[in-house]
Amino acid sequence: MQHIAYQQAGTGAVVIDRVETMLVDLPTIRPHKLSMAVMNGQTLMLVRIRCSDGTVGIGEGTTIGGLAYGAESPEGMKLAIDTYFAPQLVGADANRVPALMGRLNNAIRDNRFAKCAVETALFDALGHRTGLPVSELLGGRLRDRLPVAWTLASGDTGRDIEEAQRMLQLRRHQIFKLKIGRRAVREDVAHVAAIKKALGDLASVRVDVNMAWSELEAQHGLAGLVDAGCELVEQPVARADALARLTGKYPIAVMADESLVGPESAFALARAAGANVFAIKTEQSGGLQAAQRVAAIADAARIELYGGTMLEGAVGTIASAHAFSTFRELRWGTELFGPLLLTEEILAQPLDYRDFHLTVPALPGLGITLDEDRVQHFRRDRTRTTVGPVATSLS
Ligand SMILES: [Mg+2]
Repeated sequence: MQHIAYQQAGTGAVVIDRVETMLVDLPTIRPHKLSMAVMNGQTLMLVRIRCSDGTVGIGEGTTIGGLAYGAESPEGMKLAIDTYFAPQLVGADANRVPALMGRLNNAIRDNRFAKCAVETALFDALGHRTGLPVSELLGGRLRDRLPVAWTLASGDTGRDIEEAQRMLQLRRHQIFKLKIGRRAVREDVAHVAAIKKALGDLASVRVDVNMAWSELEAQHGLAGLVDAGCELVEQPVARADALARLTGKYPIAVMADESLVGPESAFALARAAGANVFAIKTEQSGGLQAAQRVAAIADAARIELYGGTMLEGAVGTIASAHAFSTFRELRWGTELFGPLLLTEEILAQPLDYRDFHLTVPALPGLGITLDEDRVQHFRRDRTRTTVGPVATSLS
């Protein structure tokens, strides 16, 4: 077996021993209303990768509203990793994360969210092995703290204003993203205007339409949003060509989210001048390194950046934070508030949210520890373990 010879050669090869997956169901603090789904809870697919030197890495895959957002679900990711990812990983050299991701990309089409979860676990384990934070393994962080926006998505104007004022008081968020697109354009614009008026200059107000508008509705909507004092509109329409036609037409930043699904789509959007801002999501991109490739394309095209969320729990959120901390430019901050939307903590030490920022841990790996009792308490089913067959090491 090649990997044993490699170990004997004294190069210190560490191999992947086991890949475990589980589903964890957590309630949300309130219904989260998006144009395509109403969420009352979040399911985390957690993957744990155990290596021959005793190091363990964790990663997470989540979606928004089950299958409402895209083709992957937490349950589907678990199945894909157990059945197709794990045999590619077990026995392989655990240190060579980019090579492992190349192997997965050759063997498995799409499944970007599952790939992100696995890559996160591989980097976490590598971080524990080397003593370095994931951000440093990704080339090095440029910041230790990230601004974090909060999403107002109760659907009720008065309740949203109260929620925003409470967040400002707590010094937790001063950037608010309003989820709109479920109602008539005129009603939505009035909702945004009322919130912006109540908050004034204390806060930045932005909206996410989640593709709900037609191009004509978007023309009315963007004009109204400009008057309402809204500074950014996220994915008002579904089609990338319509998004490009709206970009630059109104004095409001147009941000691509659903249209942005990895480096190739980033290149196409950049070439078409299809957005002012990219909402980069690690899961949508297909992993932490893929997110960095998207950021590099944006950088070259002078497209500004925003660190997006798939409403990940603590593991996926902090993995994204490590990746975003390496971006050269992050003009629009992030929306890494996912764990704050959940009622239950699954970490031994909660993430550090204060003064409108999230701290990127400086400890090895992701810099977080799961509270195993709580994870076991909330997990949907028993852990499935894949052991062997032993694959040859990567070279
Ligand atoms: Mg969005």
